[in-house]
Amino acid sequence: MPKIDRTHDVTKQSWEKSANGHSDFPLQNLPLCVFSRNGGAPRSGVAIGDMILDLVALSEFGFLRGTPGHVVAQAARAPLNDFLAEGPEIRQRLREILFDFLVDGAMPRLGLLVPQSDVTLHLPLAVADFTDFFAGINHALNVGRMLRPDQPLMPNYKYLPVAYQGRASTVRPSGARLLRPHGQRKPGKETVPSFGPSRNLDFELELGIWLGTGSQIGQRVKVGEAAEHIAGYCLLNDWSARDIQGWEATPLGPFLGKSFLTTVSPYLITPEALAPFMVAQPARAEGDPAPLDYLLDARDQTEGAVSITLEAQLLTPTMVEAKMEPHVLSRTSSLAMYWTAAQLIAHQASNGCELSTGDLLGTGTLSGPVPESAGSLLELSRGGREPVALSSGETRRFLEDGDTVLLRAWAEREGFARIGFGPCVGTVEPG
Ligand code: MN
Repeated sequence: MPKIDRTHDVTKQSWEKSANGHSDFPLQNLPLCVFSRNGGAPRSGVAIGDMILDLVALSEFGFLRGTPGHVVAQAARAPLNDFLAEGPEIRQRLREILFDFLVDGAMPRLGLLVPQSDVTLHLPLAVADFTDFFAGINHALNVGRMLRPDQPLMPNYKYLPVAYQGRASTVRPSGARLLRPHGQRKPGKETVPSFGPSRNLDFELELGIWLGTGSQIGQRVKVGEAAEHIAGYCLLNDWSARDIQGWEATPLGPFLGKSFLTTVSPYLITPEALAPFMVAQPARAEGDPAPLDYLLDARDQTEGAVSITLEAQLLTPTMVEAKMEPHVLSRTSSLAMYWTAAQLIAHQASNGCELSTGDLLGTGTLSGPVPESAGSLLELSRGGREPVALSSGETRRFLEDGDTVLLRAWAEREGFARIGFGPCVGTVEPG
């Protein structure tokens, strides 16, 4: 488990002035990314304030000879799979090198920083596999109540982290084109399905977990060691066509209603950056079963949950026209997870399934306990029956063409610098 150390010192500032007091990327965050500029080849970098420190340029920089230069050179290759496959130690070493290089007092180095506004951001890792869990218990309850008022949670929910196998090939970075998907839809009032554009396009507010170190097929991963496989976190929007999903999903689960696109924020927020925000897993409700042994580890229970605030915002074409701020649809917390990240990973590998560098795990929609903290329009509009009132005077049941969904996330704690994830954005285009 990463420790709090000098790289979390809130009194330290950077010579890159835009980092100081930055809402997402102060000196204490140092998220890795892959970027390109002017159509050039993707290269790796680290976000600092409004800028990106070019790790290729840094690795070629004479000041960093010896071991530091070697570590940076390993991180300088895009995508970051090979570097992150090495595990936590080299990541921590890189963090210390970057912190020491960027901290006030060091001499600013020209030519190593590029403005974020000048670059195209790519996925930080090549995606190996994508699994989307269902760990947000309030979401499971809200959706379950719509389908089965008498039994919202299925009997397995409190025993195992439920998931579906997602589609890796359609994971894209923030800003990727979102075309309204076509598919079979059969509203309850119709007797036969029809094929056409989804009428109930929705978002899902989730965290993504990137795996660094893999495992061998046939090898289980102990829950107490599972967190060491995490390379970092991101925001994840599991776009969902509710009408397509509703008609196709029984009995084998989501398929085309979700596989058209999954958007993630492009910055990798490392476990080291999140060390100050690790907390105890919230206690289970009285009467809930304890996790089975293979999912239970004392240390994971006392410090294996991460406390992150998440927000979903909606910007309609009318708001853009009127130069309005986006409407905040929802604010919620990662502590809505019924399972820790380590439990998700240990469960995924519990049958001997191999974990790969670049595996992406979605947490599931992280709805909070109250209606206005729901992480999808399905929940906010109560299955589409009660349209959501927006600050512009408009209403929404589901997403309309031209609508932009912006996800944000940040972690805060007294005595530490606030760190953020950067945005995860998508705008609906007619399909
Ligand atoms: Mn989902």
